[in-house]
Amino acid sequence: PFDVLVVGGGPAGAAAAVYAARKGIRTGIAAERFGGQVLDTMAIENFISVPHTEGPKMAAALEQHVKDYDVEIMNLQTATKLIPGTDGFTRVELASGATLSARTVILSTGARWRQMGVPGEAEYRNKGVAYCPHCDGPLFKGKRVAVIGGGNSGVEAAIDLAGIVAHVTLVEFDGKLRADAVLQAKLRSLPNVTILVSAQSTEVHGDGSKVTGLSYKNRVTGEAHRIDLEGIFVQIGLVPNTEWLKGTVALSPRGEIEVDAAGRTSLPGVFAAGDATTVPYKQIIIAMGEGAKAALSAFDHLIRSVPA
Ligand code: FAD
Repeated sequence: PFDVLVVGGGPAGAAAAVYAARKGIRTGIAAERFGGQVLDTMAIENFISVPHTEGPKMAAALEQHVKDYDVEIMNLQTATKLIPGTDGFTRVELASGATLSARTVILSTGARWRQMGVPGEAEYRNKGVAYCPHCDGPLFKGKRVAVIGGGNSGVEAAIDLAGIVAHVTLVEFDGKLRADAVLQAKLRSLPNVTILVSAQSTEVHGDGSKVTGLSYKNRVTGEAHRIDLEGIFVQIGLVPNTEWLKGTVALSPRGEIEVDAAGRTSLPGVFAAGDATTVPYKQIIIAMGEGAKAALSAFDHLIRSVPA
């Protein structure tokens, strides 16, 4: 059995594995896809002290840093079930049929952005279609963008982007915005923002290498429209990869793993970190810090428990 078993190999999981291994305890990491969301990222310019890097490069560096230590890496392994134990061991079932057993488990299975599912979206991902305003906003300085989604995250993104870009069109499917009133008031006060409601995005247009426009349908009149622009921020939800945990560890109504300030979950010996948790602001630097914290909490748990 492992002393620490990390489930998920993104920034949070990699940081947790390195911190655990540095304590000289038996550490394993199981990941569906080592690198996580970082693998799907182009430019990363907000990882402090590294002014610019690329996703695949950072993902390779994450894996290499973990490999520098005595960590058992189980890549391409999907966890399907968490089984809390009464014997001081928590078990994790894998899709392969294997069961891993560990004195502490760190859950770091991350999240995924909900997609619009329209033609052109996948083709122009990272070529104008973006999901993270904190990450990619500055790339659109002085340009025209749309934000898809009028919930809190969409309206926050539109307010944030309006300070950087030339113009923002907020596109909401419903007949009205769903964001908090204070955010809506702020948005409406901005001179370079257009708000469209009852608007269904239908297609992302591009010139083969980058986004050039967005088509939408007015859901009331049925009329089709096209906006010329350079960027589209999709803000219709970040979904935590926690479906497999339902009924075990406590999840928030949005499916995020509830953690306290030390990264502890509702189950003793089970910790969590990164985008899969209730910790706000889903960013690489935050996920790594949380992963380090969860590993230190797991170590603290181990030195306080009677050896099994
Ligand atoms: P993830 O990176 O999501 O990793 C989750 C890991 O868990 C993966 O290894 C996955 O395969 C694995 N996993 C999932 N389910 C299971 C399972 N059941 N069993 C086993 N393993 C599982 N952040 C920034 O700070 N700067 C940026 O510039 C930036 N740009 C971004 C661009 C894009 C396109 C995207 C999508 C995100 C971007 N982000 C950026 C956000 C950043 O990537 C995330 O905040 C960060 O990766 C979260 O790390 P994590 O380890 O919590 O989760």
